[in-house]
Amino acid sequence: MRFYDTPKGPAVFKLKEHTTRLLKGAKTTFFDVKYSEEDINNAIIETISKNEVKGGYIRPIIFHGYGKMGLDPTGAEANVVIAVWPWGSYLGEEAVKVMTSSFIRIHPKSTHAEAKICGHYVNSIFASREAKAAGFQEALLLDYEGYVAEGPGENLFVVKDGKIYTPELGNILPGITRDSLTQIAQDEGYEVIEKKMTLEEIKKADELFFTGTAAEVTGISQLDDQIIGDGKIGVTTSKLRTIYLDAVSGKNPKYEHWLTYVN
Ligand code: PMP
Repeated sequence: MRFYDTPKGPAVFKLKEHTTRLLKGAKTTFFDVKYSEEDINNAIIETISKNEVKGGYIRPIIFHGYGKMGLDPTGAEANVVIAVWPWGSYLGEEAVKVMTSSFIRIHPKSTHAEAKICGHYVNSIFASREAKAAGFQEALLLDYEGYVAEGPGENLFVVKDGKIYTPELGNILPGITRDSLTQIAQDEGYEVIEKKMTLEEIKKADELFFTGTAAEVTGISQLDDQIIGDGKIGVTTSKLRTIYLDAVSGKNPKYEHWLTYVN
């Protein structure tokens, strides 16, 4: 999760949605969490408040602790830790160079691919490291069928002929920023279509961009050896990015209900 320095003090973006997803994922992963959604939300607010940080990242993490050994965690205690720290831009630039990974996104029949499970991030780490070692800033993973899935920590959007496309759910993490961007784009009059897309197809896009809590809205200037658009953040991406950044930082009353103020 991220929290932002707004005119009314620190505010968490889509707190409820994140905690709901966290607890849903925990249930899928056999955690018997003794805290309610409200308990966790209150603890997040308290952690931000006590640390006196104005804006940054929040990482609540649930893990099995003392009491049980073995691969069936039933009976092990579910512990919850909440960390907050100041954190700026994740990918560093408003548009980045992306490499198609040789690693595919985790197979939905190997795990619950839609849950935010720590173990899944080994896949993300391999993809990120590979892309960076090859001189790119981020990776793009395909799914097991060869369709475009997502980044190691981002969902993908494609702009083509005035319409916006994004990979359908199933082999991706259902991103909260993806939902927010879809809402913003629809409010701006764009049609947003979820569908399976090939790499060849998206390389012909007018614009490509990533969304994610960390990456926010980041343009893709190059995909492998293909320059996208004019090699800068696209006009539509830039417009949606500005609306998103205004929304998260409490500067757009239309989306203020997405914020939970700390004080
Ligand atoms: N996909 C993956 C694999 C991610 O780790 C993330 C970041 N949580 C996303 C997509 C984007 O999700 P969100 O917008 O909820 O941060």
